[in-house]
Amino acid sequence: MKKDTHPTYYSDAKIICACGHTLTTGSVQKEMHVEICSACHPFYTGKEKLVDTAGRVDRFKKKVELQKKTSVTRKGKADKKKRSVVRKAEKEKEKIKAELKANK
Ligand SMILES: [Zn+2]
Repeated sequence: MKKDTHPTYYSDAKIICACGHTLTTGSVQKEMHVEICSACHPFYTGKEKLVDTAGRVDRFKKKVELQKKTSVTRKGKADKKKRSVVRKAEKEKEKIKAELKANK
């Protein structure tokens, strides 16, 4: 091996998880700290547990909640269309009435 080009290799490097689980492996770093490992990840444990470090799940839940609240007061496009159709029909009725009056 060429000298001074290769990093120090630790054949007993420790990986420490936030759950307390540790495992040994080979690495150029002596110690590593991880947030999740195979001992605590929901995929391996089969338990439903949200891995939410940035609060994204909470933000999404808030967004859904807000949408529900606003959708109660909002009537939507379908209602708007219905009203416009009614308005148009009334306008045409008045037009016809005016024409009938003019013809008399
Ligand atoms: Zn873990």
